[in-house]
Amino acid sequence: MGKKEGISRRQFLKIAGVGAAGMGAVRLAMGVAQAGQMDVDNPKVWIETVIKDFIDYSPENTLKNKANDRAFETPLVGFSGGDDPLWEAYKEHVGPFHLTPQEIFALTFWNWGVRPEELTVISWILPQTAQTKADNRTKDFYPSERWARARIMGEEVNVKLRKHVVASLKAKGIQSVAPAISPQFSIRISPKYLFASTWSERHAAYASGLGTFGLCDGLITPVGKAMRTGSVVARIRISPTPRPYKDHREYCILCGDCVSRCPAEAVTEEGHDKLKCAKHLFPVTSNYVIRHFGFKGYGCGMCQTGVSCESKIPS
Ligand code: SF4
Ligand code: SF4
Repeated sequence: MGKKEGISRRQFLKIAGVGAAGMGAVRLAMGVAQAGQMDVDNPKVWIETVIKDFIDYSPENTLKNKANDRAFETPLVGFSGGDDPLWEAYKEHVGPFHLTPQEIFALTFWNWGVRPEELTVISWILPQTAQTKADNRTKDFYPSERWARARIMGEEVNVKLRKHVVASLKAKGIQSVAPAISPQFSIRISPKYLFASTWSERHAAYASGLGTFGLCDGLITPVGKAMRTGSVVARIRISPTPRPYKDHREYCILCGDCVSRCPAEAVTEEGHDKLKCAKHLFPVTSNYVIRHFGFKGYGCGMCQTGVSCESKIPS
């Protein structure tokens, strides 16, 4: 075909009325609809792409404000084995009610024959945007509107991402479950931690090489502590992401920024007082959010913004 008879990719997209974002949406839809036809010789790369494309291209990644700001930046993704000894250690650490990947999988699919080594935990970090962090950095008691939206509308994005990952795996014939939105998820009383849940997204991220805990209990990741996190347990074997740390507090430099930023005196050298924190969130910030921003929500995040570990591993 001569040069004049052919059309470039750019011309094709123009004729078809599909821009770069549109192409992303096409790619995103293919992740689910045509997954069975896709090459998944490298499932690790495929899963990472499914997660990153959702956040980078889906219109669902929104704070639902007038500017239609995106809720999160491109995610980090990590993997850990269902047979990692950490899962049993969490039972001792958090409480016996904390589920292992095998338990959550067995309870979901009524398959008690599944072996831990057949499972992988897929974990992701959703970094807050520069604008959301900048807004909240200027606050010292109540959250900024973008931060409160990231807590509520951003978590809605996270829920949709969990469902998208499960649907994408299902299209490939792979069983999976998102523990945090499964019926098995519940809040329990923990002898050591006052209250805790049957699955912890931050502990899943820690196991998957994505970060270590800070003084205020937030997870310090390579993109910092201002983030949200999610995970899915899948019946697929993927090599675990190396954990570049030996201690659960390795990235925290004990600078004390989160101690001085906390408006509820909930962070001290001793750590995080969950009750004081919860009392600040409800009703102090929840009343403020409905009154000033007009939606039901809450949020604080002072300990995640304007601190040395906000956007990086501090040094
Ligand atoms: S602000 Fe400082 S003390 Fe608090 S978690 Fe971050 S590094 Fe640790
Ligand atoms: S979320 Fe707010 S109240 Fe809770 S520990 Fe962090 S700064 Fe303190």
